Amino acid sequence: MSDSVIRTPDSVDFDELVDRFRQLYDAEPDGVWAAPGRVNVVGEHTDYNGGFVLPIALAQHTVAAVHRRDDSLVRVASTSMNDGAAVSVDLTDVTEGGDYGWAAYVVGVGWAAAQRDLPTTGLDIALDSNVPVGAGLSSSAALSCVIARAWSDLLGWGLDEQTVADLGRDAENKIAGAPTGLMDQLASVCGQEGHAMQIDTRAVTITQVPFDLPTAGLTLLVIDSRTEHSHADGEYAERRQSSQEAALRLGVRELRDVPLESLATTLDKLPPLLRRRARHVVTDSARVEEAGKLLLAGDDPRRIGPLLNASHASMRDDYEITVPTVDTLQEAAVAAGAHGARMTGGGFGGCVIALVDQDEAESVARACVRAAADREHPTPAIFRAVASGGADRIR
Ligand code: ADP
Ligand code: MG
Repeated sequence: MSDSVIRTPDSVDFDELVDRFRQLYDAEPDGVWAAPGRVNVVGEHTDYNGGFVLPIALAQHTVAAVHRRDDSLVRVASTSMNDGAAVSVDLTDVTEGGDYGWAAYVVGVGWAAAQRDLPTTGLDIALDSNVPVGAGLSSSAALSCVIARAWSDLLGWGLDEQTVADLGRDAENKIAGAPTGLMDQLASVCGQEGHAMQIDTRAVTITQVPFDLPTAGLTLLVIDSRTEHSHADGEYAERRQSSQEAALRLGVRELRDVPLESLATTLDKLPPLLRRRARHVVTDSARVEEAGKLLLAGDDPRRIGPLLNASHASMRDDYEITVPTVDTLQEAAVAAGAHGARMTGGGFGGCVIALVDQDEAESVARACVRAAADREHPTPAIFRAVASGGADRIR
């Protein structure tokens, strides 16, 4: 339907990417790799508290055509940056605290590999992507993980999935200076079609749980508010600190260790603000376990809807990380018939997800567009999220 408000994302043209590689470097790539963005179904800000998260890998991915070099130079070009022109960084110059712009997500992987005494060489790389950048769908992990997967395969590092994700995370944390947990990279590396990943972020174990929505007549809409709060980084750091302080005052290693059963009495020991912060973390992690249990048992996925709504309320009232643009979209989706909806991602803007019956997807999407227009918020960008496979060589 041409007048649908649900967009079909542009696909990445692999042939065109290889052609561009040839034009840039006057050589053939050794191969082509892809790694997806991700969206988190439930469990927000739980990852740095040792709790549970439940992401899916998306069909949208970052694709890299790569050729191994004999020296230590990395040349990388991206359709989304610098008008597609290549930037060059010598790996031997890469240090923590250096400024490499967006190329940090690429050379940071080489730096992280060298830290682990893996033999590194330079690479020539051409990138293309259909993961929206900066929308909370982890374009950064798609980038760092596609590079980690490619480097590992080309140099025969023989790394397991978790170590590939670790390289991506180190690149983001230590060289790009982005303080993320491991969820984004694990989701990008370990995604499986038709599954969500219940990740225990303390034990770093993944349980693949069935999430085949089309078979159940369902769709997960991603509704990008197209707004981002300029203070998001500072707020994120503040929430991390509050979590740590709450854990310290409660005498536990991490908020993960607060038992749900005695939550109310335990939290009484905290001042009001920390009480609310801790309550969000503990209950949202519990909601992941509950959703995981339902999905693993093969229950109707509609049953996770109320957990999504409760998660949103908890982020809004206790963790205070939602903003009017996303609250409006969440409320509009539920009022229009979504089984559940919540903001996803770090907060202060970004995306809302809504679990909807397939034949109601369009009307829910329209209701969201209308609600945004009524409040004079930006028109949201809406697409269907499809649980897809993780980082892999595709040519
Ligand atoms: P998100 O991961 O939610 O999309 P981040 O702020 O964590 O947002 O990461 C976005 C940054 O990652 C961009 O500003 C850029 O530096 C880098 N990046 C992501 N995708 C690409 C790409 N295809 N080409 C170049 N840089 C990219
Ligand atoms: Mg990111």
